[in-house]
Amino acid sequence: MKKAIYPGSFDPPTFGHLDMIKRSAQMVDELNVAVLKNNAKNPLFSVEERVTMLRELTRQFSNVTVGIFEGLTAEYARQVGATVIVRGLRAVTDFEYELQIAQTNHVLNESIDTMFLVSNLRYSYLSSTIVKEVASYGGDISNFVPESIIDKIYKKYNLEK
Ligand code: ADP
Repeated sequence: MKKAIYPGSFDPPTFGHLDMIKRSAQMVDELNVAVLKNNAKNPLFSVEERVTMLRELTRQFSNVTVGIFEGLTAEYARQVGATVIVRGLRAVTDFEYELQIAQTNHVLNESIDTMFLVSNLRYSYLSSTIVKEVASYGGDISNFVPESIIDKIYKKYNLEK
């Protein structure tokens, strides 16, 4: 049984993340979307809120689960019995950082390999940061995130749409 984790902040989840989940879930037996609990980052959504959103958004995929992790990704992978870490590459700017992390994780845990999926062209510009930036000014985010979470994002900025 091939198990993978897809770690990230998902603050908030975007169409780019969902595309990655859909594509990578087809390649493994189980995909665990691992939400990083990082107190230092001052997130827009609590880790519990992010987990709830991701569970709803991935309900149609029977082999996708959602979990929370803190600390080392390689350690979380070991705990849940995953041997693959899924990451997305949007542009060359992602590459240098991701390469270093992937190599570090392999040194920390030899049984782990990182699988990079190249971003869907439709979403290669898209990041959670961009979503927050546009939403904070009341801009249209319907091309960035699923309908069901649009209001949740505006509410964080005290905006009703
Ligand atoms: P992190 O804080 O770990 O970068 P993110 O939630 O921003 O967490 O991203 C999680 C993963 O999803 C990363 O591998 C990132 O490259 C990937 N990702 C984010 N946005 C997109 C996108 N639009 N297309 C493809 N992959 C993406």
